[in-house]
Amino acid sequence: MELTRRDFLKLSGGGVVGAAFLGMFSPDSLLEAVPIDIPLRKEKIGEKTTICPYCAVGCSLIVASVDGKAINIEGDPDHPINEGSLCSKGSALIQVVNNTRRLSKVLYRAPGAYEWQEKSWDWAIERIARNIKKTRDENWTHKDGNSRVVNRTEAIANDGSAAVNNEEAYLITKLCRTMGMTYIEHCARLCHSSTVGALGSSFGRGAMTNHWIDLKNSDCIMIIGSNAAENHPLSFKWITKAMEKEAKLISVDPRFTRTSSKADIYAKLRSGTDVAFIGGMIKYVIEDIERHPENYNMTYIKEYTNATLLIDPKFRGPADLDGLFSGYNADKRSYDRSTWVYQLDGKGIPKRDLSLKDSNCVFQILKKHFSRYDVDTVCSITGTPKDVYLKVSKTYAMTGRADKAGTIIYAMGATQHTNAVQMIRSYAILQLLLGNIGVAGGGINAARGQSNVQGSTDHAILYHILPGYLKTPSPEDVDLKTYLKNHTPTSNDPLSANWWQNYKKYIVSLLKAWYGNAAEAPDFAYEYLAKVEGNHSHIAITEAIHKGIIRGLLSWGHNTAVSGPNGNMERADLAKLDWLVVPELWESETAAFWKRPGVDPGQIKTEVFLLPAKASLEKEGSITNSGRWSQWRYECCQAPGMAQTDLWILTKLAKKLKGLYAQEGGAYPDPILNLTWDYGDEPDVHKVAKEINGYDLTTGKLLPSFTKLKDDGTTSSGNWLYCGSYTETGNMAARRDLMPDKFNIGLYPGWAWCWPVNRRILYNRASVDLDGKPWNSTIPVVVWNPWRSVWEGDVPDGGWPPMSQKGTRLPFIMTSEGWGHLFAPGKALKDGPMPEHYEPWESPVKNFMSGTQNDPVVTIWKSDMDFTGSPDKYPIVCTTFRVSEHWQAGQMSRNLPWLVELMPEMFVEIGEELAREKGIGYGQKVIVESARGKIEAVAMVTKRFSPFMIDGRKVHEIGMPWHWGYMGLSTGDSANLLTANIGDANTTIPEYKAFLCNVRAK
Ligand code: SF4
Repeated sequence: MELTRRDFLKLSGGGVVGAAFLGMFSPDSLLEAVPIDIPLRKEKIGEKTTICPYCAVGCSLIVASVDGKAINIEGDPDHPINEGSLCSKGSALIQVVNNTRRLSKVLYRAPGAYEWQEKSWDWAIERIARNIKKTRDENWTHKDGNSRVVNRTEAIANDGSAAVNNEEAYLITKLCRTMGMTYIEHCARLCHSSTVGALGSSFGRGAMTNHWIDLKNSDCIMIIGSNAAENHPLSFKWITKAMEKEAKLISVDPRFTRTSSKADIYAKLRSGTDVAFIGGMIKYVIEDIERHPENYNMTYIKEYTNATLLIDPKFRGPADLDGLFSGYNADKRSYDRSTWVYQLDGKGIPKRDLSLKDSNCVFQILKKHFSRYDVDTVCSITGTPKDVYLKVSKTYAMTGRADKAGTIIYAMGATQHTNAVQMIRSYAILQLLLGNIGVAGGGINAARGQSNVQGSTDHAILYHILPGYLKTPSPEDVDLKTYLKNHTPTSNDPLSANWWQNYKKYIVSLLKAWYGNAAEAPDFAYEYLAKVEGNHSHIAITEAIHKGIIRGLLSWGHNTAVSGPNGNMERADLAKLDWLVVPELWESETAAFWKRPGVDPGQIKTEVFLLPAKASLEKEGSITNSGRWSQWRYECCQAPGMAQTDLWILTKLAKKLKGLYAQEGGAYPDPILNLTWDYGDEPDVHKVAKEINGYDLTTGKLLPSFTKLKDDGTTSSGNWLYCGSYTETGNMAARRDLMPDKFNIGLYPGWAWCWPVNRRILYNRASVDLDGKPWNSTIPVVVWNPWRSVWEGDVPDGGWPPMSQKGTRLPFIMTSEGWGHLFAPGKALKDGPMPEHYEPWESPVKNFMSGTQNDPVVTIWKSDMDFTGSPDKYPIVCTTFRVSEHWQAGQMSRNLPWLVELMPEMFVEIGEELAREKGIGYGQKVIVESARGKIEAVAMVTKRFSPFMIDGRKVHEIGMPWHWGYMGLSTGDSANLLTANIGDANTTIPEYKAFLCNVRAK
C-alpha cells in the first residue's frame, strides 16, 4: 500500500511530527522568531490549508496549530501546482506568524512627535474617520470647470494592496469609490499594469492566457524579462517537466540568471530593447511564412487573427514617418488615431483580403513595418550576438507548426519600461503569427508577482477601472446612457460575439450591489460614481502629494517608501501629508518615514496611524493566482494582540463614516448613506464573497454565472467576472477535487475556481480547426462533438459551434470584431497600433531605428524633484531585479531571520570588465549614483553581466535588487532611490528596468 503524507500524519499523530520538525532547526534563528511558550505536545493538532502570500504561483501550504499557535507549516502534497514543494519564502512562512517583530498594537504618531503612542481601536477608527470626513468635505468638487457633475475629491489617495484577499480588495474599491476618491491605486500599477494594456488590446482580456501547470505541455518556452527559476520558483517545476519531454528553453535577459543557467539557449539583450529583439523575430517569421507557408498554421493566421483585414489607406507607420505613426501632434505629445482603423463595407463590417496581398491589409502593413528590423540593426540595438539571435529566431519559429506550441513567459523585466505595453504587444503579435494563443502549452504567461495582484486588479484598486474592467467614468460620461454609449463596443459583423455588448448588465449589477434600493432606473445611482479626469496613477499620486493636492493617504501594506520610483521624492513627500494610515504586519519604511535616517521628526507634521493587520494565514478569504485560479484560504492560527483583518478595519471605517454623515451631514452624503455594508459587526467574509458573485434579486438566490446578469436592476453582482465563484452549490474557490480533465492536460477543473466561468485556457476555440478538431490531438483543450453538438474539454471560450457551422462566432470574443489583434485598431493604445522600438527614457545611445529617440507620448513630469540623467555623466545602464529569498519592498522577508540569514545585504552585480575599469573588487563597498540620488551597496563582481556591443561600442550594464530599506532585521539602501518618475505611455508603469547611473568604489 502506498502511504501518502496525509495517511502518515493520521497514523503517526501530527503532534509528534510537529515536535520533531521544530527540533530540526538551529536554535538561534528559531528562538528569535518563535515565542518559546508554545506547547509542543497536545492531543489535538488543528490542520488547515492556506495559499502562500508571496508570489502568484499560488502554492498551497498545510498549517498545523496548537491552541491557535502555528507549530508547523509545510507544502500541501495534494495541491496540483506545488505538489508539496515550497521555495525558500514559502518554507519560511512560519516566521511570519510566530515573530516577535509583528505589530500587535494600534500605534499613533502625533504631528511633530518623536515616538509612537499606543491607542485603542475605537480611538483610531474615530480619528481616522474624522480625518477622512474633514479632508473630503473641505476638498469636494461637485461640478468641474465645464459645469459637468463630477462628484469627487482629489485630496485623499488610496495605495494598496495586492496582498489582501479578494473580498478585502473589493471592499477597498467599494469604499474608496463611494467616498468619491479618484487617486485609487495599488502595486499592480507598478508591476503589471502594462500587461493589462497589452494583452487586453491584443486578445481582449488583460490576463495570463494559460496557467502554471500547462507549461508542461509546451514544445518551446521563451522566458524574456523574467527570472522564473528565482522569482516564481514553483513555476519551474512545470518548465522542467516540459524539458523532460524534449521541450526547448530559451532565456532572454540582460543578466545570465538562474533561469538562464537551465536554458538550452541564453540570449543577452540590453535592457529596454525587447521591441527590437522580438521585432526581428517577427520579421523572420513573416519572411519564413512567405517562403514556407506549410510550416505555419495559415488557417489560424487568416481566420483567427486580423491579418486579412484592411486598414484605412491614409494610415502611415514609422517606416514612412521616421519612427512615428500617422496623426502625431508634437505640441500635445499625442496622436489623432482616426487613421488607425479598419476599412468598412456598406454594412459596417471590416473588409478583408484573404490573399494577404493587399498593401492595406494588416499582414502587409505588419510586413512593411517589421522589414526594418533586420538582424544587423536588431543586434546593434540589443547587443545580442548575431549567431545566438538567429538560433533563437529559428528555434522559436518552429512552434509555428499547427501541432506545436510555444509559450512566452515574462515578468517585470518586460513590464517596467516607457514602452512596456508595446514590448508585450510584440510578444502577442509573435504568438498570433505562430498560432500559439488558445492552445495547450502556448499562450502568453504574464508571471504575476504578488499573491493577489491579479485579484486586486480584477477588483479594480486602480483609478482607471471599476471591478471587472469596466471603465471609470470621466466627466464626458454625463449620465449612464452616455457612459454606455461611450464605452460599449459595437459590431455589425454577425460573426463577432462582441462580448462587451453586455456592458450595461455588468455596470447596473455593480451599482445594485453597491447601492441597493437607492440604485433605481434609469441611472441606477450612476451619479454617485466620481468622474475622473487625467492621469491618477502611482507617479501622479506622488506628484499630487508634492503639489499639496493630496492631503491624506490610505496605504494598505504597500511600502511605497521602498517600492516607489524616485524614492527620495516619495519619502520626502510623505511629510507633506496631513495624515497617513498604514494597516500593516510590520513597522514598515512607509509607516516610519518620519523617523528615517537623516530627518528630524519634530519637523514633520503628518499624523500617522499604524494599524496592526492580520497575516494571510490568520484570516479567511480567496486570492487569485497568476493563472486566474481563485483559491480559498482559511484562518489557520491566531494573530498577535490587537491585529485585525483588513475586512474588519474597512467595516469599522465604513460604519463610522456612515454614522458621521448621518449625524452631521457633509459634502454629498448620499452615496455614503446609501452604501450597502451588511456583513455584520464582525464582518463575515462569505457574505462579501457572495455579494461579489451576485444575486437574482427577485428570488434572493445566488447566480450561477454572469450569463444570468440583467440590465434592468433585477440582478446584482459586485464583479461580473467573478459571477459563478460562489453559487447556490457552494464556495467554488474552496473546491479541492483533483479529478483530471477529460483530456488529461492538467486543467484540474474541480480544483478551486478560475475566471471567467472556470475556463482554464483563454481563447481556447482558437485551438481547433474550422470543424472543431484540435490542431494537436495529443493535447486538445476543447473538441467539438458533432454527434452531441457540444464542446468537450475545457469550458469553451464562447459556446458557439465551430467556424464551419452556422451560428458560429469568432474565437476572440472580447475584441469587438472577434479577431486576435496583430494590429491594435482605433483607440486601443496611445502610442501606436504596432510596436516600434524606442530607447528607454535614459539611454546611453541614440535610437538606431529612427530619429524618434523615446516613446513620443510618454508623460513628462516636471516637478523640482524630477531629474533626468545624461549619458555623459551617467554612462552605465542600470536595471533592478529580485532575489528568491526576499519579497518586493522587503517587509515580508527582511523581518524573517531565516531569509535574512540567506540573503543578508544589499548588493550590486557588476561585470568583471567594468569592475576592472573602475577598480572595484568583489565584496567591496561601492557608490551607485543616478540623477535622482546615490546609494551604497556591496559589489558582487560577476560573469553574469558582460558588456554589450552597441553599434560597435561597448555599453556596460549593472543590476541590483530593490528589496532593502531602513527598517527590519536587515537594512540597506533601496535601488529605487535611483529610479525615475517616468512611465509607460499607456499605463504609466514606471521605467524601473532601464535607467542611467555611474558606479565607483567607496
Ligand atoms: S513564493 Fe511562490 S513559488 Fe514560493 S512557495 Fe510561495 S507561491 Fe510557491
